[in-house]
Amino acid sequence: MQDFLSTLKINETNAGISTGAKWFSSSNNEPSFSPVDGKVIAFVSLAAEEDYDTIIQEAQKAFSVWKSVPAPKRGDVIRQLGDGFRKYKNELGSLISYETGKSFQEGLGEVQEVIDICDFASGLSRQIYGLTMHSERPDHRMYEQYHSLGIVGIITAFNFPAAVWAWNSALAWVCGDVTVWKPSPKAPLTAIACQKITSEIFMLNQVPEGVSSVVCGNNDIGELLTKDKRIPLVSATGSTAMGRKVAVAVAQRLGKSLLELGGNNAIIISPDADLQIALTASVFGAIGTAGQRCTSTRRLIIHSSIYDDFKQRLVKAYQQLKIGNPLESGIHMGPLIDKTAVEGYLAAIERCKAEGGHFLVEGGLLEGSGYDSRCYVKPCIAEVSPDLPIVQEETFAPILYVMRYETIEEAIAIQNGVSQGLSSSIMSLNLRETELFLSNAGSDCGIANVNIGTSGAEIGGAFGGEKDSGGGRESGSDCWKAYMRRQTNTINYGNQLPLAQGIKFDL
Ligand code: NAD
Repeated sequence: MQDFLSTLKINETNAGISTGAKWFSSSNNEPSFSPVDGKVIAFVSLAAEEDYDTIIQEAQKAFSVWKSVPAPKRGDVIRQLGDGFRKYKNELGSLISYETGKSFQEGLGEVQEVIDICDFASGLSRQIYGLTMHSERPDHRMYEQYHSLGIVGIITAFNFPAAVWAWNSALAWVCGDVTVWKPSPKAPLTAIACQKITSEIFMLNQVPEGVSSVVCGNNDIGELLTKDKRIPLVSATGSTAMGRKVAVAVAQRLGKSLLELGGNNAIIISPDADLQIALTASVFGAIGTAGQRCTSTRRLIIHSSIYDDFKQRLVKAYQQLKIGNPLESGIHMGPLIDKTAVEGYLAAIERCKAEGGHFLVEGGLLEGSGYDSRCYVKPCIAEVSPDLPIVQEETFAPILYVMRYETIEEAIAIQNGVSQGLSSSIMSLNLRETELFLSNAGSDCGIANVNIGTSGAEIGGAFGGEKDSGGGRESGSDCWKAYMRRQTNTINYGNQLPLAQGIKFDL
């Protein structure tokens, strides 16, 4: 067993159901495989329906206590939690890298996001403000306040196995909510490690059992969360197909959902771009996390006057990429998450060719020693027409589509011409173009950047996308409001009862 696993208290067989200090096992033990070497990292026992129910009951009890703890005191616990994650940053970064295949640097970056959102949430705990407004009635006062919501169900994807949970949980906890986390079945050990770090800090602060719970399980456990009336908010991150099912199930019981779904992100590269910045942003965006970020760059929309030059630079840059064990330094790209992802990648390449795409850099499986897991692939680039059916889809792999444009209006239309609307960017030093791109007539995405790529959002801003990307917003800005219920209060301190809208009701 690797050192970082024992420091994180990961055993060969791990209970995957927890309300904090308490851990529950089941007879259903499943392995978590590493895409790095194909080995079983450890086994995790998955929840069944009755385990799920125990967790929810504990969470309900915890909510009645936690919501009464003053928000700044809750914030102080979350400040300490950030320090807990600082302490284990290297080990957790290593586990994330080993369990998901992203580079160690990206694993560390993910833990940093956990730390950053804890800091943010701690400050937020003293800024949960409502508005006051003037009443139309004499001797009346009116204001809004925000109260805790209850249990927040969190369903996460494999590719950000710690950060997305933390974005939701840190805010939910300072808002006085309790959380039940259903992590991806492809990265359960990261979830177990995060829960162990959390319970260490929570126990020191006498935080009740049930404020932070984890239920490792398959999609069926996620479905239980979506149908459960005891859970007022379900925050679900994953594919658009998953989001459609979650949206319907939660809406059916009039619950709230916060959906963070797939993207099909593009960079527009103008003739007025700084081409070196454009190149670095494009390559990192396309191959970072092996093209398995929701914000990965999938399309480059390049002006025809620089098209051939930029293509050549891209091909040259791809020839220098180092693919291999993501835990080793100097590696740009590790493996895909599993063999199913590899099949999806190979199928997309075949479809692209059949639809008329022309590959500038060929893809395919990497074979040989060091690639034993059979999850390592070559990042590739295809020259396409923007309207090819395969280009409309999110293939969660390092396939980059390049296409040309003539006018900025045409480039924006191509950028917006897909069903997803998560992240977008323009590379240009021309103010008229960049402002048009950011205007109401510009990008239709939740994230629109200038002279930086599509991936790598900071936690301070609201994160999320439009259209098939789900419409949710989480992380910074005023996203905390989604984790609270809003109440309008009107107080009459006079000796009359004037009715609103001038209505008379004399008795
Ligand atoms: P996935 O949709 O296969 O699974 C995501 C999670 O949903 C898992 O925990 C899974 O068990 C659960 N799930 C699946 N079906 C469910 C159902 N019917 N009810 C409840 N839960 C269900 O996604 P994945 O392969 O793990 O992740 C990749 C996808 O996630 C990509 O599409 C990517 O763009 C997206 N993603 C989006 C964001 C974002 O913030 N927009 C962030 C990360 C990943």
